[in-house]
Amino acid sequence: MKRSADVVIVGGGCMGASVAYHLARRGVTDVVLLEREKLLASGSTGRNAGGVRHQFSNAANIRLSIESIALLERFKDEIGYEIDFHQDGYLFLLSTAASVETFRQNVALQRSFGIDVEWLAADEAARLAPGLSTDGVLGATFCRRDGIADPNGVTMGFAKAAQAMGTTIERDTEVTGITVDRGRVSGVNTARGAIAAPIVVNAAGPHARAIGRMAGVDVPVDPYRRHIFIAQPASTLRAAALPASKIMVIDFETTFYFHREGAGLLFGMGDPGEPSTFDTTVRWDFLAQVTDIAVTRVPALADASISHAWAGLYEMTPDANPIIGPARDVPGFFLINGFSGHGFQHSPAAGRILADLIVGADPAMDLAPFALERLAAGTAAGERYVV
Ligand SMILES: Cc1cc2nc3c(=O)[nH]c(=O)nc-3n(C[C@H](O)[C@H](O)[C@H](O)COP(=O)(O)OP(=O)(O)OC[C@H]3O[C@@H](n4cnc5c(N)ncnc54)[C@H](O)[C@@H]3O)c2cc1C
Repeated sequence: MKRSADVVIVGGGCMGASVAYHLARRGVTDVVLLEREKLLASGSTGRNAGGVRHQFSNAANIRLSIESIALLERFKDEIGYEIDFHQDGYLFLLSTAASVETFRQNVALQRSFGIDVEWLAADEAARLAPGLSTDGVLGATFCRRDGIADPNGVTMGFAKAAQAMGTTIERDTEVTGITVDRGRVSGVNTARGAIAAPIVVNAAGPHARAIGRMAGVDVPVDPYRRHIFIAQPASTLRAAALPASKIMVIDFETTFYFHREGAGLLFGMGDPGEPSTFDTTVRWDFLAQVTDIAVTRVPALADASISHAWAGLYEMTPDANPIIGPARDVPGFFLINGFSGHGFQHSPAAGRILADLIVGADPAMDLAPFALERLAAGTAAGERYVV
C-alpha cells in the first residue's frame, strides 16, 4: 500500500468515488481512496432506492439536483459506464391542506429555476400510475425528468474512471485514526499501516461522526434505519394494472413510496418513532405498519408476498441539508457528509464541488447552506422533502 498521497479519501460509497473522479479530472491523481469493506458501495449507497429528483423545497438542493441530473444524463458518454437511468418521473401525492400550500410555494421555487414541474388533480395523478388509489389526495406534483438510476453503476463508474486516471483504491482497509500535527491534518492510520497526506476527506456516510472525531471535529450526522421491501410478482400483483414505467410515487404525508422493480414493486417508508441506530437488521414487525399504508395506495399489495427486504442507514443532519466543505478548525480536513436520505442523487455535484474546493478553484455555488458552521449557528432553513 502507498505510504503517502496528496489526498486520502475515507469511504468508498458514491460520495468518495465522486470526489476521486472529480479530483482526477482536475489532474489530482496522487489520491488513495480507502474503503473498509471488501467491495465499494457496501454502505448506504448499496442499499438505496436509486431515486433522483429535482423536486426539493430548498434552493441549494435544487441547484445540486440540476447539476447532478445533467451529469447522470450524460454519464454513459462522459464516464463510459451504464447506470440504467430511467426518467419516468416522480409523483408526490398530497393529502393535507398544509402540504398543498407548502408544495404550491415549492413548485413556484422549482419553476423559478426552469424546472418543468406539473401540478395535477388526483384523477390526473391516478392516470399516471395504474394500480394507484388516490383516495383522499387533494393534489399532486409531477416532474417527468426525475427518475431512477443504479447507485452501484454510478459509484463504480466514478471509481473506475478515477482509477483509469491514476487514483489508487484500497478495499478491506479500515481507517483507525487521523493524524493532526500542529493543528493541521497530516495523514491517516489504517489497519494496514499509516498514509501521510496533507488532505483527508471524510466520505464515511453514516459513520461521518466517528471519522470526524478522529480529527477532533464534531460532525453532527446521525444514522437512522430505513427499510426497503420487494413485493413478489404474485399472480394477483401481476394481474393488477401496475405502472409499466419506473415512475416513483411518494405519499408525502406518510413517506410511503414505491416504484416498479422488475415484474414486482419496490416500496419503503420511514418510521418517525425509531431513534437513531446503526442497526441494519430488518424489523419484520415494521412491515405490518408499512402494509397498512401500502394497501391504501396500492390495493393489489394486500395479496402480494414479500420476496425480500433490507435496511440501510440515512445519514441525517439537524436541518436535513448536507455538509460540503472544509472543517475550518482543522486545515486539510474536508467533509462531504449528512445527505439526509438524498445523497445518491447529489453525489455528482457534491463531489465536483468538493474537488474544486480542494484544488482551490471557485466552486461556482453558494456554499453557505452546506457549511459545517451553519449547524452551530442554527440559522439554516433546511430541507422539507425528506422521504
Ligand atoms: C433505504 C435507503 C433508501 C435510499 N434511497 C435514496 C434515493 O432514492 N435517492 C437518493 O439520492 N438517496 C437515497 N438514499 C440515501 C443515499 O443512499 C445516501 O445519502 C448515500 O448513499 C450516501 O453516500 P456516502 O458515500 O456518503 O455513504 P456510504 O455509501 O455509506 O459510504 C460510506 C463508506 O464509508 C465506509 N467507511 C465508514 N467508516 C470507515 C472507516 N473507518 N474506514 C474506511 N471506510 C469506512 C463505509 O464502509 C461505506 O462504504 C437512501 C438510503 C437508504 C438507506
